[in-house]
Amino acid sequence: MGRPHRLLVAGLVPALLLLAPPLQAAPAACPVAVATRAVGETPSTAAAVPPGEPGADYRQRLRPTGLGWPRLDHWCVWVEPAATGGSGQRWDALWLGAVERALGQWQQELTITRVEDPAAAQVRIQRRRPPLQRQASGRTRASHGRAELAVVEADRGAGWILEPRVQVLISPGQRPLATEATALHELGHAFGLWGHSDDAADAMAAVPGAQPVLALSRRDRATLRWLYAQPTGFGHPLPP
Ligand SMILES: [Zn+2]
Repeated sequence: MGRPHRLLVAGLVPALLLLAPPLQAAPAACPVAVATRAVGETPSTAAAVPPGEPGADYRQRLRPTGLGWPRLDHWCVWVEPAATGGSGQRWDALWLGAVERALGQWQQELTITRVEDPAAAQVRIQRRRPPLQRQASGRTRASHGRAELAVVEADRGAGWILEPRVQVLISPGQRPLATEATALHELGHAFGLWGHSDDAADAMAAVPGAQPVLALSRRDRATLRWLYAQPTGFGHPLPP
């Protein structure tokens, strides 16, 4: 009975080799930044963007940074996890589900990797009410979402790279649909749409309409595709 046994073993070996991890691991998609330094941003001197086809997109409403369009070919995103116990767990899970659905909309257009470690992310989404903002009129305005952009140089183990670093705050305690619409809008800023549409049906509307916008509109997608076709220094290694 030795012969059939040997054949069986011989047949198993290639299958086991296929299951074994490759000897050379692929480079991590989102390596942790071992060092980060702030960039004193220069004000944007870019000329205003001429409008595209009327009604097709809202590219003319976007503004670049002084160092170009803050967009990346590959985004690493950290989302604050839900509490794993206690009375807040259920609400945290609802918040997380809404944020994940909004992120899923952007994932249809962009390459996005979720990371466990905030130090590996360029976009960090926190479950926190944004602080009140004082307007020029002196009045304060409450909002349920905010995205704040910083320009940094990050060393992810292979030299310095110019990167956008975006902190996104999404309030807890809203209804899930409102949370989802807020997250969809604020993530649009995070991924480079620093401007607002004048159409309430767009995710990036300056003034939201009566119905929460939960999906990217044709104009949102067209504007994003225009943006990602523009040249930028972001995401590229800096000269030593
Ligand atoms: Zn906005």
